Amino acid sequence: MTDGTPGSSPPERYDVMVVGAGIAGMEASITLGDAGFKTLLVEREPTIGGKVLLLSKVFPTLDCASCISGTKTSRVSHHPNIDMRTYTEVEAIRREPDGSFLVRLREKPRYVDMATCTGCGDCEKACPIIVPKENDFGLRGRKSIYIPFDTGVPKKAVLDMKNCIYCMACERACPADAIDFLQVEKVREVRVGAVLLSTGFNLFPAEKKAAYHYGEYPNVVTAMQMDRLVGPTRPYNSVMRLSDGKEPANIAYALCTGSRDLTVGNPRCSQVCCMYSMKQAQLLMGILPTADITLYYMDIRAYGKGFEEFYQQTKAMGVKFVRGRVAKIEETSGNDLRVYHEDTEGRGVLVKSDHDLVVLSIGLLPNPGIATIFTNETLELDEMGWIKMRNETQSPSMTSIDGVFVAGCASGPKDIPDSIAEASSAVSQCIAYLTQMRGLAPSGVVPEQTRQEANGEASSLHREVPVEAK
Ligand SMILES: Cc1cc2nc3c(=O)[nH]c(=O)nc-3n(C[C@H](O)[C@H](O)[C@H](O)COP(=O)(O)OP(=O)(O)OC[C@H]3O[C@@H](n4cnc5c(N)ncnc54)[C@H](O)[C@@H]3O)c2cc1C
Repeated sequence: MTDGTPGSSPPERYDVMVVGAGIAGMEASITLGDAGFKTLLVEREPTIGGKVLLLSKVFPTLDCASCISGTKTSRVSHHPNIDMRTYTEVEAIRREPDGSFLVRLREKPRYVDMATCTGCGDCEKACPIIVPKENDFGLRGRKSIYIPFDTGVPKKAVLDMKNCIYCMACERACPADAIDFLQVEKVREVRVGAVLLSTGFNLFPAEKKAAYHYGEYPNVVTAMQMDRLVGPTRPYNSVMRLSDGKEPANIAYALCTGSRDLTVGNPRCSQVCCMYSMKQAQLLMGILPTADITLYYMDIRAYGKGFEEFYQQTKAMGVKFVRGRVAKIEETSGNDLRVYHEDTEGRGVLVKSDHDLVVLSIGLLPNPGIATIFTNETLELDEMGWIKMRNETQSPSMTSIDGVFVAGCASGPKDIPDSIAEASSAVSQCIAYLTQMRGLAPSGVVPEQTRQEANGEASSLHREVPVEAK
């Protein structure tokens, strides 16, 4: 590969850079790669897959989440047209006079040689330092040197230097001699024809909803933690309360935690929390057949294909649905929990109910950081901080910048099928854009005109491409 270090040889060229390797970014990269476009996929974490890799099963089919993401992680990592760069930040994107983008990338050191590491995990076993594991949201620990995810791609170790005590145990244990304490950050420049943003969402920080006491009461957990607890790569072999390790017998879900809630500054519906709570309730009924499960909700938004049937099925399985938002949670004796809600279907009074585990169905928040890296153009965000679609009804995958496209939860909360469908939409817009920029018209259509119609405006960046109808 050309070394694109600033000031050295010319930057390597790609047709498209996809930023964020969640389900949307992986889908987009595979489709671009399959269409013959040289694609650079940049992911800031040490492995690809995004949030879907952390999930147990998916609504409404209850397919295994890692089966959905596993086929894509494997295709991305072996695709001849995809150059995957993990543990890499996009630092700056600048529009060049020829219409392309000059991108500065910062590749973080893993302190492990990617080419020689076999992912055997011997370094992990030898390391004496244990810190909370990010991917398990504090449910278990990880070592200072660790393989981020059992099913992660690439399956390579990474050394977290801020916790390292330089005991060199990992270096002695590594049979491949892959530990390299001398690695440094690498800055590279690349040139790309178009950019596709699939940077996903942030989880609502549950401690912000003070009345629910997340982080204070051990038996109040988030739905993301519950997805880990019921997942195939789960931290423990059963679902247990964090206070005493007992199996819960009476579980409550507080839907809309951090969404549709002006008290925490987020009026938007999270689109997925009704459905993922029902999914978890169904899975819990299989794992803990005698447990009572109650969902406290404002209204059930089961809007997609098969969702209403899934809702009816969840009710038929015996899950209790109680209409009314949870007002507050109090801890009682033995770390049990008292849930207060307003009975909006009955007399409108405040009702108290006792549970031994409460799951907060947390909302989805924007991840707006990417907007700051465009140096000479403005990536517009909507009033909540999601990447703004140029035209929500007619061209949802176009952004305010020509040649920059958006897919998945980067533009707003959505489920996996919608994220994948949007990735395909963004790719088709991206291919149309590249075709126009390069004057490659594959058929007798007039792409410039078609595109201007979609935008509702003419763009100065597009070359006039005379195309003769065949
Ligand atoms: C608890 C919970 C359960 C859910 N269950 C289901 C379910 O059962 N079924 C369903 O359909 N949906 C479910 N969802 C929704 C599902 O998680 C999303 O639809 C899906 O993750 C969206 O994928 P994405 O690729 O858009 O974003 P993400 O999964 O967020 O991926 C974004 C990727 O971009 C990377 N990234 C971010 N910023 C940068 C940057 N600046 N540079 C480089 N990389 C960056 C991130 O590290 C990440 O890998 C659930 C959500 C939650 C919270």
